[in-house]
Amino acid sequence: MNQWEVVIGIETHAQLATVSKIFSGASTAFGAAPNTQACAVDLALPGVLPVLNRQAVECAIRFGLAIGAHVAPKSVFARKNYFYPDLPKGYQISQFELPVVQGGAITVQVGSGDKAYEKTVNLTRAHLEEDAGKSLHEDFHGKSGIDLNRAGTPLLEIVTEPDMRSSDEAVAYARALHALVRWIGICDGNMQEGSFRCDANVSVRRPGAPFGTRREIKNLNSFRFLKEAIDYEVQWQINEIEEGRAIQQATVLFDPDSGETRTMRTKEDAHDYRYFPDPDLLPLAITDDWIARVKGELPELPVQKRQRFMDQFGLSAYDATTLTASQEIADFYEATVGVAGQGAAKPCANWVMVDLAARLNKDGLEIAQSPVSPQQLGGLVARIADNTISNNIAKKVFEALWNGEGASADEVIDKQGLKQITDSGAIEALVDEVLAANAANVAEYRAGKEKAFNALVGQVMKAAKGKANPQQVNELLKKKLEA
Ligand code: ADP
Ligand code: MG
Repeated sequence: MNQWEVVIGIETHAQLATVSKIFSGASTAFGAAPNTQACAVDLALPGVLPVLNRQAVECAIRFGLAIGAHVAPKSVFARKNYFYPDLPKGYQISQFELPVVQGGAITVQVGSGDKAYEKTVNLTRAHLEEDAGKSLHEDFHGKSGIDLNRAGTPLLEIVTEPDMRSSDEAVAYARALHALVRWIGICDGNMQEGSFRCDANVSVRRPGAPFGTRREIKNLNSFRFLKEAIDYEVQWQINEIEEGRAIQQATVLFDPDSGETRTMRTKEDAHDYRYFPDPDLLPLAITDDWIARVKGELPELPVQKRQRFMDQFGLSAYDATTLTASQEIADFYEATVGVAGQGAAKPCANWVMVDLAARLNKDGLEIAQSPVSPQQLGGLVARIADNTISNNIAKKVFEALWNGEGASADEVIDKQGLKQITDSGAIEALVDEVLAANAANVAEYRAGKEKAFNALVGQVMKAAKGKANPQQVNELLKKKLEA
């Protein structure tokens, strides 16, 4: 009865990693003193003419190919007219009716473990445009400053169909898109500097009903804010409707401090942008040869690498997706297997996805900052595979490597005397000792209490300081108890 379905479409602005601006030779480097990197073209002073940056177009082609989209042989730049203090020229050059990238899709993994599922998000379009300047409110009392350095910075605006059905799906999509643009080298993905920012369009409806009215949450620059903003907005819309008020189409802002969204402008004052083709720019023509060349220069894409990991390493779809979530993770994993050996591909996957990931998370580190290198981790997994150490001892060795207590797993095992006891005579002696000292457990086991067996295993392992081969301990104990 009280069921609502959430509908989300996302628009992302990805700043393209070019050296100069989209229509001028001014630098795009971040962090320069205000207004030192905006030239006459960026400001559209009288008499100047924009010249399209070939590198920005290449970025768009790369993206289109990476998502299986149609790269338009002809697309058109249009003027989007509006005035704002950070856009003194009075219009933004964008693409409207004919964008450079049309269609395409990104398949993402949502959730983890047993609850994980795949979701395909269709893209409507991706178009090239220039960024505006920036208003600065913090350093001035009662005034705003304007920094036009960002004016003319190339952006790719990537628009999805309203395909997502939860904030988790929205975040999974945004993360996958973020990884992809970095993977193909078109955007540095720096969210703090605003190189990758998302607008989330959110509505709710009864399942099966037509789409509800949407509100657009602007400029979300972290995955956490994206999730929090959508969750708050969904609840707000449901409350409004359940209390008998209709949703009005609006643009809203998320306040991370209060965790709330608030209205910036409603549809009534939405702009009429009076788009028209920019008379200073020719239509953008992209030849088949150009597309073919860019295609030849693309790296192995996440989807391709994922399939290869499944074929070559025998990984599950889930593992392969997780390990191709970014180029860094994929490279780390492959280097680890390279050292441990292909036969240990699955344990390597577990170590990277579970143990290493948890440890990195605990210290708030990215995989590129891991104190344990793939060479060290691969060496560690190899010692588990060849029975030198047990999985439990391996966790100890891993922690030692993490803390820099040895250059390699072998060195740590050696220095700390962690080599597994596989000599059956030595293990047998320990088993005999434990059986003699724990008559109560032995009796319980013989009376049919399975748990007593685990207690005995624990005792033997304790006596061996965790170093006895667990399988041998199990077998020997069973043999003696059954004798
Ligand atoms: P505009 O050009 O006014 O921003 P679009 O139709 O291009 O509007 O849609 C912008 C974004 O909003 C797209 O990502 C689209 O998928 C999404 N969207 C459209 N309708 C809805 C809706 N009813 N609920 C949620 N998202 C929507
Ligand atoms: Mg929009």
